[in-house]
Amino acid sequence: MNRLTLVSALAASSILSCSRRETTSQPMAQPSSSPPQAPSAAPASPAVPRSDDMFDTSKGPLTLRPLHHASLLLQIGGKTLCIDPTEDAIALSPPPADYVILTHTHGDHFVPSAIAKVRKPGTIVIGPREVTGSVEGVVVMNNGDKRSYPDFEIEAVAAYNQQRGPAPGKLFHDKGRGNGYVLTIGGKRIYVSGDTECIPEMKALTGIDVAFLCMNLPYTMPPSEAAECVKSFRPKVVYPYHHRGSSPEEFASAVGPGIEVRIRKWY
Ligand code: ZN
Ligand code: ZN
Repeated sequence: MNRLTLVSALAASSILSCSRRETTSQPMAQPSSSPPQAPSAAPASPAVPRSDDMFDTSKGPLTLRPLHHASLLLQIGGKTLCIDPTEDAIALSPPPADYVILTHTHGDHFVPSAIAKVRKPGTIVIGPREVTGSVEGVVVMNNGDKRSYPDFEIEAVAAYNQQRGPAPGKLFHDKGRGNGYVLTIGGKRIYVSGDTECIPEMKALTGIDVAFLCMNLPYTMPPSEAAECVKSFRPKVVYPYHHRGSSPEEFASAVGPGIEVRIRKWY
């Protein structure tokens, strides 16, 4: 790779990320390569260390495990679902996935080398059309599409910016390109927002038991806006995720009583 190509690649990687770690102009608060137990000069976080949270479903216990930033693991009945695996997530040694679910192609969500590491023979990979150029055998889902598998049902939902973008007239996430998802697992409805602002489609969600809500600026939305949306669709439990540089405590405070906010260690 010559110098010009390298510079171009770096510029592209900056544009294509919605996480501060990928940009050069915004120093990251914590190096993403730090192991979870690494000592840090940052103030002590109240976040609970990574562990499995359990939810009862009609198919048995569902476990949810935060991995890193926007990467998470769900396990039900011996099957593993991995959402947006990245190399930082792979560093935490998740088990091979029966299903890999992808939201969009930004570099903090979509890393083909990490997908290859978590994939095994027979793994079903689900994602929007834009991921198909770099990963083989993807089951394409567009906003509004629904599919059923023996272990769960999945609906792709909208995820997009309404106002925030890299330049006037441009958005970080255009409507229709990426997906959020609602997974129905043994009667429990799990919403994973992907990268989005507080859009009408999110406010209109119903019957959500567990939600994973993104929040970070400039790419998605501030904690206050995420809280506004949560107060509209009222999940029983909500996990702030994808919150590098934002305060999950501010989000919890803005959500207020009546909805359980679970702050976990994502970095
Ligand atoms: Zn992102
Ligand atoms: Zn993004």
